[in-house]
Amino acid sequence: MIKADYHMHTTYSDGDNKPEEMVLKAIDLELDEVGISDHSYVSFDPGYCLQPDAADSYKAEIDALREKYADRIKVLCGIEQDYYSDTDAEGYDYVIGSVHYLYLNGQYVSIDEYPEDVPAAAEKYFSGDVLALCEEYYKTIIDVVNKTGADIIGHFDLISKFNEGNALFDPADARYVKAWQTAADALIETGRPFEINTGAMSKGRRSEPYPSYAQIKYIKEKGGRFVLSSDAHNSENICFFFKAIYDKFDI
Ligand SMILES: [Zn+2]
Ligand SMILES: [Zn+2]
Repeated sequence: MIKADYHMHTTYSDGDNKPEEMVLKAIDLELDEVGISDHSYVSFDPGYCLQPDAADSYKAEIDALREKYADRIKVLCGIEQDYYSDTDAEGYDYVIGSVHYLYLNGQYVSIDEYPEDVPAAAEKYFSGDVLALCEEYYKTIIDVVNKTGADIIGHFDLISKFNEGNALFDPADARYVKAWQTAADALIETGRPFEINTGAMSKGRRSEPYPSYAQIKYIKEKGGRFVLSSDAHNSENICFFFKAIYDKFDI
């Protein structure tokens, strides 16, 4: 097994640390490989992502780290490519494909920035039917590999980010289960691994990773593959909770 973490953010997007600080922490953790994956550019919400004119220096800086630490760790330059990104994902070692917005009535609507995003969007676009919004989310992510060229499927059930304690909907509802299983079945067919993303756990927002434990079990039984991701926005959270998930799922 390769000890690695391929999903993390730096000051090139919305992370707190520079790429070198992330690499040094990964060396401390004795990882074999570390991948930086800052957010791709989205023109309708540009504040938190890699700016187009910074992409070359991002790649160059990570290339330099790859050389500098070659005898200690393998450093990869990735990108977390949003489904609606305006820039292509060429020239990176790998791509994480992620859905952070839905396109509803001509508007890009964030589903993971604020706790009220999901109920507000359900109210505005689906007459308050939160499960209809969830169905729309899974109808979008079903195509994420085609759309982004993803090598890794990012946070599969992000729509449940603020649903701790079933605050917004019941994930056992047959409509919800049908929506995610349909998406999971199609994405398993692509052969791309699903990340098991512990980012919301490290922030204390969720007690389970994305995908949820029930989803991981289903995907595993259907032959899906996984890669563990911290989605760290600072060096302290690299590999957060990985050991417990390895132990729980033997992956
Ligand atoms: Zn993301
Ligand atoms: Zn991320």
